[in-house]
Amino acid sequence: MEKVSKRQNFLKKGVMTLSVACASLILLSTTTLEAKGPLTTEVKTQAVQKTSLSEERINTVLKEAYEKFKNNQDGKNADYIKALAIVDSKIFGITLVTPNGKVYEIGDTKAEVSIQSISKVFTACMVLQEKGNKFLQEKIGVNATGLAFNSIIAIELHGGSASNPFVNAGAIQATSWVEAKDSKERWAKIYANMDDFAGKKLNFNEEVYDSEVNDNKNNQAIAKILDARGRMGSDPLEATTVYTKQCSVNVSAHDLGVMASTLANHGTNPKTGKKILDEKHVPKILAVMATAGLYDNAGDWLYNTGTPAKSGVGGGILAVVPGKMGIGIVSPPLDKFGNSVRGQLAAEYIIEKLGINPLAQ
Ligand code: GLN
Repeated sequence: MEKVSKRQNFLKKGVMTLSVACASLILLSTTTLEAKGPLTTEVKTQAVQKTSLSEERINTVLKEAYEKFKNNQDGKNADYIKALAIVDSKIFGITLVTPNGKVYEIGDTKAEVSIQSISKVFTACMVLQEKGNKFLQEKIGVNATGLAFNSIIAIELHGGSASNPFVNAGAIQATSWVEAKDSKERWAKIYANMDDFAGKKLNFNEEVYDSEVNDNKNNQAIAKILDARGRMGSDPLEATTVYTKQCSVNVSAHDLGVMASTLANHGTNPKTGKKILDEKHVPKILAVMATAGLYDNAGDWLYNTGTPAKSGVGGGILAVVPGKMGIGIVSPPLDKFGNSVRGQLAAEYIIEKLGINPLAQ
């Protein structure tokens, strides 16, 4: 009997201690939350935002963005590459792809344009993968130029270096460093890598390629200067031709959305499940996209969206919301920097309305 009551006493005491502990914990957490009053409100606001990112909400915002900007007439097609001037300026497609492969899209999302400078992202990924982070930083560079994407003077101003893989100089350089026995193999690898990012075989635009390859003196001059400074990994003229080929691959807004979602999904394509880029390299490529993805408009873009992104003079734009969303947009008319006008407006609107600016999380 005595033993039992002793045990009961012990249990009673235990329960009491536990209740006191729990009560103080509750008290503690309430106090913590109360002490930071405004935080409580913030937590609530965030929770509301998260729940409101429903399929319905995403589709509504996509539709709003499309309707709001589809008749915008600002900007004009690139014409320094003749074949780009005749592409239908009305094309406008928007695709969002989540890291688990869910697709939301509106407009001409299957219409294809040449990928142009957006290809620079994927070739730089190959350099990261094959040669590592330090190589990209030291041999090519990761700083913005503050000058036009095809500037020659930028090379001289940066001590004979390209400064980053998203201006033509750095992109041709990156192409030259892709490991291969000859330029044929180099091109095949670069093309296959873009296919992997898109999760399908991408078309090649012969018309754009012919137009650019026969009128390529500025890019050839860039490659020759870099070669003279010991910065090229293979023959400069061959590398320029391979670079021109990579710019002539066709993509749609849908393709760009999938490619962006592969970066949003830490380097694994959500559509095919194939790992394309090591996770450790993803923040590196995203950092350069944030710094220089929209050339000398990169600061305004980052200010407005907080996203790493890349544009091309074909009218494509790709933006990455890490862990949340890949955004692909196609609309050919460009601003004076070479970035799609409707593409930028639509992406800014969507990111703002969905509350997915990565710098605001
Ligand atoms: N192929 C184009 C060029 O070399 C790419 C430029 C771009 O898209 N910004 O000029």
